[in-house]
Amino acid sequence: MPNSQYIHHFSSPHTQDVALYHSLSMDIVYCNPTLDPATLPINDSKESIIQTNIQPEITVMYLLLTNNCNLRCRYCTVQYNLNDASIKVMDTTTIKKSIQLFKELVPSGKKASITFFGGEPTLNPNGLQAALMEISHTFTPDEIQVFMVSNGTAITEKIIDMLVQYNVFPIISIDGWQEIHDQMRVYDNDTGSYQDAIAGYNRLKDKGLNVGISTLVGKHNCEYLPEITSFFIQELKAFNLGMSLPHIKPEAADVSIELLTPELISSWEIARDNNFYIMQIGKRFNALAKQKPILRSCPGSKGWSMIRILPDGTITLCENMGLKNKAVLGNVNNSLPGMISPTPFDVINHPEIIDWNKRYPYNMNDCLTCSAISICGGGCPYDAFLKTGSIHNPEQRSCYLSRHLLEWAIWDIYKRVDMSQGFAVPTKEQRQGILPKELPYFMENKGNYSGKGIYHGKHIS
Ligand code: SF4
Ligand code: SF4
Repeated sequence: MPNSQYIHHFSSPHTQDVALYHSLSMDIVYCNPTLDPATLPINDSKESIIQTNIQPEITVMYLLLTNNCNLRCRYCTVQYNLNDASIKVMDTTTIKKSIQLFKELVPSGKKASITFFGGEPTLNPNGLQAALMEISHTFTPDEIQVFMVSNGTAITEKIIDMLVQYNVFPIISIDGWQEIHDQMRVYDNDTGSYQDAIAGYNRLKDKGLNVGISTLVGKHNCEYLPEITSFFIQELKAFNLGMSLPHIKPEAADVSIELLTPELISSWEIARDNNFYIMQIGKRFNALAKQKPILRSCPGSKGWSMIRILPDGTITLCENMGLKNKAVLGNVNNSLPGMISPTPFDVINHPEIIDWNKRYPYNMNDCLTCSAISICGGGCPYDAFLKTGSIHNPEQRSCYLSRHLLEWAIWDIYKRVDMSQGFAVPTKEQRQGILPKELPYFMENKGNYSGKGIYHGKHIS
């Protein structure tokens, strides 16, 4: 066994055995510590896995149909980054131009996704309708998957009919049962929004839609996360779950990652055993199980793949940075002073995209000796920027979480191997035991038309 910075040693919490893990190839060998390491089947020949020439490839667009919202969630980054003077609703011209620009950006044969986002997208029902019609005229059903992230409180029958007609996958933000949800997700007058959110959620379910839940994990729900996961599975019968860390600012839901991590792991165990998928944890474990590294937390692809369009037509790489006029590529309307309306060529070659495209752990010096380099994605670039002044640094909470998830997974796989020979290399099936038996259909997508779609949760750090 070579002496390599990419080979990491883990000690079993319950036996004398150790695990050797190659952070690039993601090979694992379990062994009895008395064994001569030179005899173990792990090698260091896969350093070439580190890829340096990855090109941006846009396949994901978020349309912020409005930055207005009827709630005042205490941790909301959009409200935090927005000043009240700039509340806007996306008009039909902006919607059509955005969809046409996106169509030209998506490489031929690649599956694309559009997510309606906000603010609260349902506060712009006319925009939603115009967007859905434009998408249906521009893409075939095989080419596109459409999502909507909503707080659930303003979902009318008309909106539900649109979602059903155009096969939109809704994701409703719910942070737990009422006492928990209502601590953070409140109206202007401080009253909780749970009853209205659940009413909207149930109306969607009653119409036969699959509905995902997006949960922000923070100080209000941290200690109940496993129970909340069970609640979502058993009582709300959610299709899947996104669990996002709060952003660094505002600090309303701030909680230490040391407290959160074991709760997230316990939540995953419950989810896995109930064949239920938690996106942010699952994407890391999916990478480990299949030995397919993930390069980015946001968006979760190889080359940079996402644009976000603000209600005024501003094209940005992150809505929070875009609201502060950072990471901006131009404007689809060519209407703002100093802004140009870029061609697809301008977008894909924009210096901001080139810069963000370089942000992945293989390009971060601090990451090369990290065990989690192939499963973490580097965390949210915006949070890294807030914390360190640059997107090109790791986001430390993601580091802590990723390393602990890795260690948990290594010892979970170990439970399924046969150590009778003093060492074991896990099979593909044994590795896949860390995942639910069936993955959501969008996880099987290979980036082309073979699957039904791809998915991006509200925040995917
Ligand atoms: S995850 Fe982070 S970088 Fe990505 S859009 Fe959200 S705030 Fe921006
Ligand atoms: S971002 Fe953190 S966890 Fe990820 S590879 Fe870098 S150091 Fe490791």
